Amino acid sequence: MNIHEYQAKELLAAYGVPVPAGKLALTPKEAYEAAKGFGGKAVVKAQAHCGGRGKAGGVKLARTAEEAKELAKKMIGMKLITPQTGADGKTVRKLYVTEMIGIKKEYYLSLLTDSANACLSFIASSEGGTEIEKVSAEHPEKIAREQVSAEVGVKGYTARLLAKKIGLPEENLREFTQILQKLYRCYLENDCTLIEINPLVLTDKEGLSALDAKITFDDNALPRRPEIAALRDELEEDPKEIEAEKYGLNYIALDGSIGCMVNGAGLAMATMDIIKHFGASPANFLDVGGSANEEKITAAFGILLSDRHVKAILVNVFGGIMKCDIIASGIVAAAKKTAIGVPVVVRLEGTNVEKGKEILRESGLSLISADDLGDAARKCVALVKAGEEA
Ligand code: GDP
Ligand code: MN
Repeated sequence: MNIHEYQAKELLAAYGVPVPAGKLALTPKEAYEAAKGFGGKAVVKAQAHCGGRGKAGGVKLARTAEEAKELAKKMIGMKLITPQTGADGKTVRKLYVTEMIGIKKEYYLSLLTDSANACLSFIASSEGGTEIEKVSAEHPEKIAREQVSAEVGVKGYTARLLAKKIGLPEENLREFTQILQKLYRCYLENDCTLIEINPLVLTDKEGLSALDAKITFDDNALPRRPEIAALRDELEEDPKEIEAEKYGLNYIALDGSIGCMVNGAGLAMATMDIIKHFGASPANFLDVGGSANEEKITAAFGILLSDRHVKAILVNVFGGIMKCDIIASGIVAAAKKTAIGVPVVVRLEGTNVEKGKEILRESGLSLISADDLGDAARKCVALVKAGEEA
């Protein structure tokens, strides 16, 4: 789960990590009041679950409260399009107005689950700020890494090594060490999967401050962290994913044109691969699971049909625990509820396959049947391509 910058900073502040003072603003008037509280000079920051806001016009400096109000007018309701949002962008509904910090130097600092080394690792760089992706790609030697051993936690030497690699002034080492220790505690106590501070700045008052913060949490741990789960902002999430969650469907929206309905995560991955192989892109990942009933299948079909990017649907079911006739009944039930305006290619195999095929045949729906996965993907891609040319 993702949260907003203002929520991440509030959580970090509760652990004693220094952050700039800030206030949430939902209207230009509130932005004006907040900026006034900071003496007029303030930063107006769009709150949306995406990085790269600065470059996309989502972070602006105001010299006066009046200016903050004008900036807020423009930003509320704007579509923020960044490399992380896709072409559809994200609508800005909230602003965070912060005091303006004088910056001497921007660093990058994060703590993450380092699965390759089976531990948590800190990543730091002297080149923090809005170009960090470029630094990581072009100058990997400027990215420092330090593993944290679960037995000993964050010790002084971890901080010293990192600080040396990124050229942090000696005078800030103590403060830096404490920040690392606080991040580590916060990470463990809240089941985080990432804490990223970019930039961590050296201010003109020679102190350190987390100017921006991003925190993600382990979804599987949310049931035991109700106070974290409460930070969820459903407006930031894809409504299709929220609907899928209600039915216990394992669904992730993607930006291709072929809607996929598959049972089993492995088969779903293979289906996406083969769609790519034949030259199109999947509109989603969807594993209906082994225990799906007609209601779940109906819901899944409805979700695929509600996606305007979907130009064809590929149903690929290998009936084992999940039986082919259940899938077939689900498709027919969904078709009765929602008019299917796109071609549907169905590949069924396994338990009760004949019964499933019979249900589809007798439904009167114009479905295209396929013999195997390759055949199904080829047909689906051809239909999408024909549609594009028409
Ligand atoms: P992001 O683009 O979504 O990562 O948003 P950030 O919060 O990281 O802000 C982007 C950039 O705006 C930072 O790297 C800073 O250079 C600048 N910025 C943000 N807040 C301040 C501030 O208080 N003072 C100054 N001088 N610059 C700021
Ligand atoms: Mn940032």
